[in-house]
Amino acid sequence: MNEEASRAASHDVRREEIRGNLTVVEERIRAACRASGRARAEVTLVAVTKTFPATDVRHLVALGLRDMAESRAQEATAKVDQCARMDLSELRWHLVGQLQTNKARAVGSFAHTVHSVDRHELVSLLDRAAASRGWALRCLVQVNLDEPHRAAATAAPTPPRGGAVPAAVPELAAAIDRSAHLVLGGLMAVAPLGAAPADAFARLATFAADLRTSYPCAGIVSAGMSGDLEAAVRYGATHLRIGSAILGSRPPLR
Ligand SMILES: *Cc1c(COP(=O)(O)O)cnc(C)c1O
Repeated sequence: MNEEASRAASHDVRREEIRGNLTVVEERIRAACRASGRARAEVTLVAVTKTFPATDVRHLVALGLRDMAESRAQEATAKVDQCARMDLSELRWHLVGQLQTNKARAVGSFAHTVHSVDRHELVSLLDRAAASRGWALRCLVQVNLDEPHRAAATAAPTPPRGGAVPAAVPELAAAIDRSAHLVLGGLMAVAPLGAAPADAFARLATFAADLRTSYPCAGIVSAGMSGDLEAAVRYGATHLRIGSAILGSRPPLR
């Protein structure tokens, strides 16, 4: 085989690998929806492409996905550019990781949805960034679901996962809602390590219901990853953020 032919062959192998994984994930989502009497259309699958190349984004698009998520601003910025050069223009980019203040501007220039708004400073920076691009930026408030005693007791070998404490959510939501160039979408959370995801997602569902009493349109519940999507669907997730179950295992985060 010449070089071009072998590149094409490995391209096909990768696409079939992703297709197979996606079929399994799709069946898990359908089963979870059936089990809780929800329609599949209530749940959006967001593919988390962090650490994977832009060519994988192209495979995902060919397989019918549009929603892609990154967790680091710098990697996201580079990948968004690469995808634009590949003419993948119909993508919706989601930022799901903790956002540093000095990266808010860049993220606000390309993101469709930021899932990880957890402090006031980000609200004004994202609003300013969205103002200069001409279309509204959807923001979710990330809620920290660590139990307070647990957060205090673990002298963290685990990295902090970000998120606002539940008591701070109403204020942050109001700040987003007041911002001219932001749209309040709802809430996001990551299940805490070492706790049952179902318990965490049940708490998230009560916070989401509270939020909807003040903001009926803020119906997004972003919860559920490769390992816990079933529990997330059971407790009302509207957006699942799935990485490794679709794209394979990642090198450990640095
Ligand atoms: C990496 C990541 C995911 C995807 O995790 P998987 O276990 O690979 O599905 C989801 N949400 C956030 C915030 C992430 O950082």
